[in-house]
Amino acid sequence: MPRPLQSSAIMSKTSKSPASVLSPESSVLESIGKPTCDKLAKLGIHSDFDLVLHLPLRYVDETHIFPVAHAPYGQMVQVEVTVAKTEIRFRPRRQLVCVVADSSGEMFVRLLHFYPSQQKMLSEGARVRLLGELRMGFLGPEMVHPQIRVVREGVPLKETLTPVYPTTAGLGQEQLRKLIARALSQCDLQDTLPTELVREYQLAAFAESIQYLHQPPPDAPLSELESRQHWAWQRLVFDELLAQQLSMRRHYARRRSLVAPSLPTTQTLTSALLAALPFALTGAQHRAFEEISRDLSARHPMQRLLQGDVGSGKTIVAALACAQALENGYQAAVMAPTEILAEQHFRKMQEWLSPLGITVAWIAASVPKRAREMMLEQVAAGTAQVAVGTHALFQDQVNFARLGLAVVDEQHRFGVEQRLALHNKGVNPHQLMMSATPIPRTLSMSYYADLDVSVIDELPPGRTPVVTRLVEETRREEVEERVRAACAGGRQAYWVCPLIEESEKLQLQTALDTHVHLSATFPDLQVGLVHGRMKAKEKAEAMAAFKAGELNLLVATTVIEVGVDVPNASLMVIEHAERMGLSQLHQLRGRVGRGAAQSACILLFATPLSEMAKARLKIIYENTDGFEIARQDLALRGPGEFLGARQSGVAMLKIADIERDQTVLDQARVSAEQLLRSQSAVADRHLERWMARAEQYLKV
Ligand code: ADP
Ligand code: MG
Repeated sequence: MPRPLQSSAIMSKTSKSPASVLSPESSVLESIGKPTCDKLAKLGIHSDFDLVLHLPLRYVDETHIFPVAHAPYGQMVQVEVTVAKTEIRFRPRRQLVCVVADSSGEMFVRLLHFYPSQQKMLSEGARVRLLGELRMGFLGPEMVHPQIRVVREGVPLKETLTPVYPTTAGLGQEQLRKLIARALSQCDLQDTLPTELVREYQLAAFAESIQYLHQPPPDAPLSELESRQHWAWQRLVFDELLAQQLSMRRHYARRRSLVAPSLPTTQTLTSALLAALPFALTGAQHRAFEEISRDLSARHPMQRLLQGDVGSGKTIVAALACAQALENGYQAAVMAPTEILAEQHFRKMQEWLSPLGITVAWIAASVPKRAREMMLEQVAAGTAQVAVGTHALFQDQVNFARLGLAVVDEQHRFGVEQRLALHNKGVNPHQLMMSATPIPRTLSMSYYADLDVSVIDELPPGRTPVVTRLVEETRREEVEERVRAACAGGRQAYWVCPLIEESEKLQLQTALDTHVHLSATFPDLQVGLVHGRMKAKEKAEAMAAFKAGELNLLVATTVIEVGVDVPNASLMVIEHAERMGLSQLHQLRGRVGRGAAQSACILLFATPLSEMAKARLKIIYENTDGFEIARQDLALRGPGEFLGARQSGVAMLKIADIERDQTVLDQARVSAEQLLRSQSAVADRHLERWMARAEQYLKV
């Protein structure tokens, strides 16, 4: 909500030196013991300014006292009463019951667990302030477990609302409040934003906003504060998003200033690869490769994300990028998060590149020691031009002769350090990241502000769309009939067991049970099993047997989620679809419909369904386009959940919410560009204040 500007306050404060400067002797954190510091660290508080930015979750009103008879029900209220009677009752269970009263009326206090000290505070005749929710109980108006304070002479009422902060075990609200109040009074809260910007977006001053949030006046609008729609929150939302954008754009600029090998296409290997392919690239694949090709020829490292739905054909685009690096005499590395996926890439690379005289090395944990040593030697000598593998690729023993390009598939499954480790195998190699999780454009503009993005928004021709069916679990036998029919017709099927987040063990057990059950149901079919707890080698064997058609039916946990390519599989059954994320369902469904045969995906669900589950199943039923599914999923769940905790950048935002604050996000993005162009000292000042957080947004 807009609020009147107090520009004089802002102007007088913007001209001073950088923000958050503290003289060491006045540091709050340095004045307290290590145990408290450790607890604060758990809350992400590492400096005095972090204390300032540790904002309340909600407030309680201790600024005035309600007469008992007139206090509203169902909200936190404070009353001041004298204890008339205290007794321990044993029915229905042991509890402390007090009758308390002020001049207006009487009420009860009940404590279900209590210490002698509390009993003492509530001894007959004591005057106490109670803070709690009043409700109508069995005995009459009552408070259960209120906060109790003994009233001594001359204890004044609070002048501002009392903040309730997120905290951690062993760190009380009172202690945290004191530390924060001290930090507030000692830190420099001057504004980091120039007046024009503050005016343009009608922002409040930083100092005023932060003071307001920590110590709101008694008449502050609580619902606006708690839903973060208040002007004071809006200012901090802006600041946080601006810091995020500044940090990401700076990072982007920093990488552009590094020198990378220029790898322009020579039209040799790339052309040969294109000519040898059994298919023509789609328009979208062409566009994406052109963008990548242009990046590779530049003298600074490429940082590009290639986004495309499952089955959109990202792998060949990556192979072309590798070929372009190779035709310049450089090596390429391709890294995937699972051995199954990495091995598939290895097969594809070999299929495409070996006929052109390229040696492709396979580096994974399961490769026997001797073979592995040989591969490593070839990579180090440069006689293997491409290395494909899992996490094993960035281990210490792996040395590249001349790494020019690093390709990372399913980039969000790797941590920042892991990607950095691969990156460090070369001198500023170009980086291509791939993701099959389509991120709607609105999100990607800001979330990927530190990357360039290419999108493959078109599937290769000749795919028959997968038919999706929603089937209640009780009709399992009909589904089993369909599996029988598909396999009898020479097709293959997947049976995917539910993701049980609470327990990996339980998930494993379900997969084992299902395998036993389906093996018994189909005595004449070959039923295989893959799950996350199997050794990589066993998994690869099962997958290979399925791919070779030796297995008719494959029971799997969600390990098959990414990248598995078996064109003869035309049926997929997914159990407990209502529990799975939409992008995951979509990815799973993308495993069928890879050949010419009509394929189907049967989503089994258990009733009753929540409204949310219904809405989500409807989305997956009605849509086949991953971007559209992502868009609707985002609208349904909001970006925090949509991106998940692993997509760190967004999850790190503490104050802003990129969906709710979409407008502010756009403003912050525009402002960040402007500041970096013409007022970089201002950008420095703002980043300095928010730096501790801002660095975590980066994706390397
Ligand atoms: P994803 O983007 O999910 O990684 P893949 O790269 O695995 O997709 O491609 C899926 C399948 O489509 C592969 O079998 C691949 O060879 C094939 N393919 C890729 N591009 C084309 C195209 N332009 N025309 C026909 N088939 C293609
Ligand atoms: Mg893929």
